[in-house]
Amino acid sequence: MCGIVAYIGKRDVTPILIEGLKRLDYRGYDSAGLVIARDGKLTLRKSAGRIASLESKLDHSLDGSTIGVAHTRWATHGAPTDINAHPHTDQSGRIALVHNGIIENYRTLTRYLESEGVQVESETDTEVLAKLVGHFYEGCLEDAVRKALREVRGTFGIAAISAEEPDKLVAARRGSPLILGIGKEEFLIASDAAAIIQHTANVIYLEDNEVLVVDRDGYKTTNLDATPVTKEVEAIEWTLEQIELGGFSHFMRKEIYEQPEALRTCLRGRLDMDEARVQLGGLAHVARELIKAKRIILTGCGTAWHAALIGEYLIEELARIPCEVEYSSEFRYRNPIVEDGTVLISISQSGETIDTLAALREAKNKGAMALGVVNSVGSTIARETDAGVYLHVGPEIGVASTKAFVGQVTVLAMIAAFLGRRSHLSPAACDQYLRTLATVPDVIEKTLVLDEQCREIAAEYADAGNWLYLGRGLQYPIALEGALKLKEISYIHAEGLPAAEMKHGPIALISEDMPVVILAPRGHWYEKVIGNIEEVRSRGGRVIVVATEGDTEVAKLAEHVLFVPEIDELLAPLVTVVPLQMLAYHAAVLRGCDVDKPRNLAKAVTVE
Ligand code: GLU
Repeated sequence: MCGIVAYIGKRDVTPILIEGLKRLDYRGYDSAGLVIARDGKLTLRKSAGRIASLESKLDHSLDGSTIGVAHTRWATHGAPTDINAHPHTDQSGRIALVHNGIIENYRTLTRYLESEGVQVESETDTEVLAKLVGHFYEGCLEDAVRKALREVRGTFGIAAISAEEPDKLVAARRGSPLILGIGKEEFLIASDAAAIIQHTANVIYLEDNEVLVVDRDGYKTTNLDATPVTKEVEAIEWTLEQIELGGFSHFMRKEIYEQPEALRTCLRGRLDMDEARVQLGGLAHVARELIKAKRIILTGCGTAWHAALIGEYLIEELARIPCEVEYSSEFRYRNPIVEDGTVLISISQSGETIDTLAALREAKNKGAMALGVVNSVGSTIARETDAGVYLHVGPEIGVASTKAFVGQVTVLAMIAAFLGRRSHLSPAACDQYLRTLATVPDVIEKTLVLDEQCREIAAEYADAGNWLYLGRGLQYPIALEGALKLKEISYIHAEGLPAAEMKHGPIALISEDMPVVILAPRGHWYEKVIGNIEEVRSRGGRVIVVATEGDTEVAKLAEHVLFVPEIDELLAPLVTVVPLQMLAYHAAVLRGCDVDKPRNLAKAVTVE
C-alpha cells in the first residue's frame, strides 16, 4: 500500500528520503511528505500528488540534516490533500509522525483528545495518533509512543521524530510491515525493502506490537510494555526487481496470494458486528436517499462487469431493489431510460475506465445518483461520483485483475447488506451474513493450497485450443470470469456460460479435446449443475469441477475436482474464483506468455 522511509546517519537526508519514496512509488500513491530535524527544529514538506510535486516543494533550507522521516500516502481517511498528507504533528508541533494503516478507534480517541482541549485539523486517523503521542509526551518519545499505541485499535506501521530528541527515531508496527536496515554508521527504517536495498542488505523485521528506537549509537527493540525483545539480523538476498514482486514470479501470482490480506483491509472497520450493520463512510451522507432507490444500474467493463453481475444477485437478494447490469460502453451510447429513483453504481479498478466514466456522466446528466466502487483513491470516477466505496485492496499491477475483482465483489456484498439492513433484512439474518463475510479472507487463504493441483491440471490442458466454463446462479459470473482470465493471459479461447445455456447451442462443441470447467459448490443450484456435468461427460468432454470439500458424489463424475472450503452460497463466488485464477495463471506460464503484460491489453483502459 503506502510507504514509509526514515533515515539516521551521516549523509544528507533529503535525497535519501526522496530516492526511497520513489522506490515505493512503483504502484502509484496519492500524496507524500517528509520531515527533517536540524538545529533543534523540525521542518516539514507535504504535497498531494506524486513524489514530483513534493520535490517541487523542496529547497536548500532542508540541506545538511542527517535525520528524517518520509511517507507516501494511500488515503484511507480523508481525501488526498496537502493537509491530510503525512507527516502529522502533535499539538506542540514538536513531534512528527507518519503512519501506514488505519486507526480504527480514531473517533473515540478524537473525542477524548477534544475533551482534553486538543483539536485535530485534518480528516485523517493518523493525526489523532500524532496528537495522542503528544498528549503522553514527557520527554521520552518511545515512552509516549508506547503509551499511545496501547490505546489504539487497528493497524499501523509508524515512524516518529521529536524536536526535543533530535537524534532519535521511533518506529512501531501492528499489521503493517516495517523493517530496519542496518548500514555502516547509518540506519534506515522502511515499510518495504525496496526503499533501502540500495543502502544495505542487513535488516531486522519488526513483528506486531514491537517498538524500535534508533539513535546515533544503535538501536533497541521492545514490545509495547517496554520489555526488551532481541531481534535477529537477516540478509536480504533479492534484487530490487524481485523485491518489488515480493519474491513472486509475477505480479498476478503475488496478487492472487495477496487476496486474503487485501480483503482483510477491504473489510476492516466496515463490519459492525455489534449492530449487525455495515459501516460505509463513503455512503453515509446519501444513505437515506439510497434506500429509496427504485432501481439500481451497475456498470463496468470486463472483470468489473462480472463483479456487477454478482452485485446484482446480492443486492436483489438482500435489499430487494431491482437491479440491472450494463456494459458501460453500451449504456453510454444507447439513450438509456433513467427514471426518478435510479441509482448508478460504477465499478472500475483504476477509476479511470473511460467507458465507465462516460456511462457515469450520462446517468448523472439524466438525474441519477451515481456511486463509485473504485480501487484508485482520488481517481476521476471517484471524484465525479456522488458517493462511493473504495476497495482498499492495494494497487494492482498485474493486468489481469484478481484481487481487485474479489475486492469489488466484497464491496458490493457490503453495499447489499448496507441497503438490506436499512430495509427489510433482519438483524439476525444480517448478522449471520456479516459473520460469514468476515471469514472470507481465511477461507480464501485455505483455497490457495490448490495452487499445485491447478498447475497440474493446466499442464494437462494447456494445449487445448478451447475451454468452456459453466456455472449457475451466483457461479455463472465466475464462469465468465474464469474464461476471461484464461483468454487474457494465455490467449486460449474460452467461453463462460450459464450452465443451462449449454444445450441451446454450445453443446455442439463438446468433444474429448474440450476441457469444461464446471462450478458446482453446494447450494440450491447444485442438483441442476450435476445434471450438466452428466451431459458433458456423456459427450466425452473433459470435466474439471470446482466443488465443496467432502463432496464425494461429484468426485465420481469428474476427471479432476478442485475442492474449496464450504461457505454460504451467497459468498461462495469469492472462493470459487480463486482456483480459476490459478488455472489461468499456470496455463499462461506453461505456454510461455507474458503474464503481467499480456499482449494488446493495458491496466487502466482510458481509451474507448
Ligand atoms: N489511514 C491513514 C490515512 O488515511 C494512512 C493511510 C496510509 O496507509 O497511507 O492517512
